[in-house]
Amino acid sequence: MNLDNLLDKLKMNGYKITVQRKAILRALAENHNNLITVENLFEKSKEIYPKTNMSTVYRNLEILEKLKLVYKVLTENGMALYKLVCSDKHHHHIICKKCGKTEVIDFCPIDNLKQIIKNKKFILTDHKLELYGYCLDCKNSEDS
Ligand SMILES: [Zn+2]
Ligand SMILES: [Zn+2]
Ligand SMILES: [Zn+2]
Repeated sequence: MNLDNLLDKLKMNGYKITVQRKAILRALAENHNNLITVENLFEKSKEIYPKTNMSTVYRNLEILEKLKLVYKVLTENGMALYKLVCSDKHHHHIICKKCGKTEVIDFCPIDNLKQIIKNKKFILTDHKLELYGYCLDCKNSEDS
């Protein structure tokens, strides 16, 4: 999702595009492949618009979550990471545990499980699958 799509979606839902909101959205759009923390998003938004404040960042993330425009992952230690949603099509992610870089995986392995689920007399409604590891950059910095 790019910045223009994002702005359109917010306008369609009756939200005004303020300078601050736009800065936050731009920061998210520029980091659409990376899961980032709220603090990180705050820093990046301030680089675009220095008067951005933390509570506005939180408020905007809440709005984006409500509109299902943002994707949220909780780390093992309970920290929330955010990125814009990538596409409406069903997909999965592989996520770097160190820097939050994500790659989209279009293949859905659950298809192979459908018969097993049926045999267990369950009706599958939805599922989530995230794969975790280290990206090459983080792997290399670990080795040195
Ligand atoms: Zn995605
Ligand atoms: Zn990484
Ligand atoms: Zn799937």
